[in-house]
Amino acid sequence: MSSSFLAQVDRIFDEAAKHTSHHPTLLRQIKTCNAVIKFSYPIRRDDGTLEVIEAWRAQHSHHKLPTKGGIRYAPDVHEGEVIALATLMSYKCAVVDVPFGGAKGGICINAKKYSQGELERITRRYTFELVRKNFIGPGLDVPAPDYGTTSREMAWIADTYAQLRPGEVDASACVTAKPLAEGGIRGRTAATGRGLFYGVREICRDAALMTSLGLTPGLAGKRVAVQGLGNVGYWAARCMSEGGAILVGLSDMEGTIANPKGLDLEAVMAHRKANGTILTFPGAASSSPRGVDVLELPCDILAPCALELQLTAENAPRVQAKIVAEGANGPTTPEADEILHQRGVLVIPDIYINAGGVTVSYFEWLKNLSHVRFGRMEKRFDEQAFNRLVGAIESASGKKFSPEEHRALAAGADEEDLVNSGLEETMITSWQQIKATRERLDNKVTPRIAAFVTAIDKIATSYQDLGIFP
Ligand code: NAD
Repeated sequence: MSSSFLAQVDRIFDEAAKHTSHHPTLLRQIKTCNAVIKFSYPIRRDDGTLEVIEAWRAQHSHHKLPTKGGIRYAPDVHEGEVIALATLMSYKCAVVDVPFGGAKGGICINAKKYSQGELERITRRYTFELVRKNFIGPGLDVPAPDYGTTSREMAWIADTYAQLRPGEVDASACVTAKPLAEGGIRGRTAATGRGLFYGVREICRDAALMTSLGLTPGLAGKRVAVQGLGNVGYWAARCMSEGGAILVGLSDMEGTIANPKGLDLEAVMAHRKANGTILTFPGAASSSPRGVDVLELPCDILAPCALELQLTAENAPRVQAKIVAEGANGPTTPEADEILHQRGVLVIPDIYINAGGVTVSYFEWLKNLSHVRFGRMEKRFDEQAFNRLVGAIESASGKKFSPEEHRALAAGADEEDLVNSGLEETMITSWQQIKATRERLDNKVTPRIAAFVTAIDKIATSYQDLGIFP
């Protein structure tokens, strides 16, 4: 299934490349995966038996270093999938102006079937292999979480790397999405879902686009369905609901729950924690593993945030959403993409809409290299200056602000404020670039093709600046 995922990514590249005028050799260089390693290693299970683990790391593009991309723990992960995901990372970084090449790692395990100790041994040995092969380092290749991994695994990676590279002052920049105490950054956990929210909100502000979709402008009141309640899905659902959208459908492995009047996300998550499933959530009008599919619910915005290849030629005709926001990587097959396009559905591509994670990872990498928390130098200085300004406005106007108003007007930005501001700026600016590319191509291409053209042009410029390619 997933080797066709790579073929699909390459197919989109080929389609987008037709809308550029780059030399075929340059296009070939951009498309090809630059390096991939596979390794196997034994680990000891808690019961004393040995097991051989298979793992990969692919670095798709070295046009900028370090390369960057998550590590996936999944039972069916394989080389084609890892390369496809690394490829998407190169284009994603280019789209959001993150100065990295693309990479991805994969370990072929079902993480749920291993104890914490076993996962730690698997992760540390994986890191050891990456170090041995020069496939990790602040200036070489910087992993992050993906499906099946969290900040816990990133902490193990950072710690293993630091032990193997004693005295390397920038060692903590070898991996991102670390816990805060290990050099992580505030706002990283929520970043991909929050970025999706900023992007969708920006698109919903486009009155002409909304009218063409038969929708009113603005995110408030829009009905949203989310597939997958992991990192991306949970935060996308949470931020969109805080932004005024109504969560009419949620799903995870066990199935879908739906309620046209809206679902309380925190109550659903608490119910799942207590009962091990969302399906028995009391407020849901409909709940069943098969009876209702989240992808086909009546809604305005559908966010597939679980895995690739979820929207296919088979189910795309039944999608009722007007907007599909690809929180996951590669959730829509090209056939489904075409069907949705023909049906007038706006598909916001993964390489743009889920780029919030890598954007904030970039901020974390910068923080690690500068060894100082964002906001540390200027927060108090700004607050004092704003306080003086608010005081001057009060004296000049004769109006006294309430303590709450005063605090809101005079607050200096802390790390999370700055991270979210940088993320918001990135998502808005990048969408405007994709929109401009689309307009340059007379609006004849989908946002996905426009995003790929934008990425190809930027990567091509990097190579051309080296003077190697015409
Ligand atoms: P995760 O492991 O935290 O969550 C994935 C969730 O999807 C899990 O809760 C899982 O049970 C659920 N799931 C799996 N199959 C499902 C199905 N058929 N239907 C419904 N739910 C299902 O992973 P994540 O980090 O949230 O990543 C999800 C997707 O987003 C992946 O495609 C990943 O590559 C992509 N992505 C992640 C990030 C990030 O920062 N974590 C960034 C960009 C893209």
